[in-house]
Amino acid sequence: MGRLGSEEQNEQKARYHSIILNVDLSTGKIEKLAVPSEDLDKFVGGQGLGMKILWDRLKKPGVDPLSPENPLMFMPGPFSGLPVPSSSRTCVVTKSPITSPVKSAYPHASTVSYSNMGGFFGPEIRFAGYDGIVVTGKAKELSYLVIDDDKVEIREGKKFKGMRTDAFDKAILTELGDRRFKTVYIGPAGENLVPYSSILHTAGRAAGRGGMGCVMGSKNLKAIAVKGSGQPGVADHTRFLAALEKARSALYGSAYAKSWAEQGTARAIVANSNAGTEAVRNYREGTFLEAHKIGGDAARRDIWVKDIACYCCPLACKKSGMTKGKYGGIVHDGPEYETGVMLGSNLLISDMPGLLKAIYTIDDLGLDQISTGNVIGFLMEAYEKGLIDRGFLDGIDLKWGSVDATLQ
Ligand code: SF4
Repeated sequence: MGRLGSEEQNEQKARYHSIILNVDLSTGKIEKLAVPSEDLDKFVGGQGLGMKILWDRLKKPGVDPLSPENPLMFMPGPFSGLPVPSSSRTCVVTKSPITSPVKSAYPHASTVSYSNMGGFFGPEIRFAGYDGIVVTGKAKELSYLVIDDDKVEIREGKKFKGMRTDAFDKAILTELGDRRFKTVYIGPAGENLVPYSSILHTAGRAAGRGGMGCVMGSKNLKAIAVKGSGQPGVADHTRFLAALEKARSALYGSAYAKSWAEQGTARAIVANSNAGTEAVRNYREGTFLEAHKIGGDAARRDIWVKDIACYCCPLACKKSGMTKGKYGGIVHDGPEYETGVMLGSNLLISDMPGLLKAIYTIDDLGLDQISTGNVIGFLMEAYEKGLIDRGFLDGIDLKWGSVDATLQ
């Protein structure tokens, strides 16, 4: 990457900003770096460009994912911020702390990882004038980053230490005094370097896979807030509009898209159970006889109160549920396929309000839903087989299907 200002950069401007925001939390240095046009052409999308930057930045093998050298990147794609269906996704790219090869000469030498999240964060990065954010270094104290177009600040965030994500989501916007900021943040799990912690974004979106929250926690970075006033451009407006129309018409006419909009990924919970391919009882079985109690039809009937779209997505596949009774008092996203299966069928839980409460709690702590469901399923099996006892589990009676034990 080099400095800005060449004619080449102006040509690229029609498609990309050609600018990455680079923040070093150790030195406090904040700079805009130009992205070579060759990289933009060859490595398309947030994942592609993020991987190229990671390749350039990790100069030697064996860099510890939790060291200040490991860059944590938030990479939207070239369509992000434009009204292209399903293009609002953001790739969080880094070297992962959870895929270390056992007994390696480099115990922390792990694979690269990207985690893809929907919502509004990627488009806002583009509105602020960047094609991505790269964070390196480690802040001395818990901090957060505020990006308001060109104005970028690292702020001290000690008062937010230990705060769970639901409370923090509200607290940070109150602190900033402007609800137009879009935020990503970690919970207590990321702060405490739990390897499978996630980065959360408003309304239950998460970069859950690969230990992204753990890397963010290792940098003492609680949150990033971004707000922009610009717009990304396109190279050929007429052709862009024609392609957009075609993409939208294909979606609006499709039965698949209709079912996706109706139930999101939860549509697959019952179907996969019927096909015998569900994760059930810690992956020992493939069919859950009570799948119909936690599937899309049951959720639509019993708990879903709102369909939510990511930026400019006509599918609105995110579903927000509300529960009453013993596990009531929460409004949260879910179940989706992964959350419904890993915390439902995999643990033999068929109590819908209890399932939503478990999903909420895991997001609230800032843990990855899939890995957490795996760990609890593994422990339930070990408990069933007498390999561990209640003493090992701090007194928890971790029986299959128990919502209370899962919440504990
Ligand atoms: S609303 Fe659903 S389909 Fe649309 S971008 Fe978000 S997650 Fe993807």
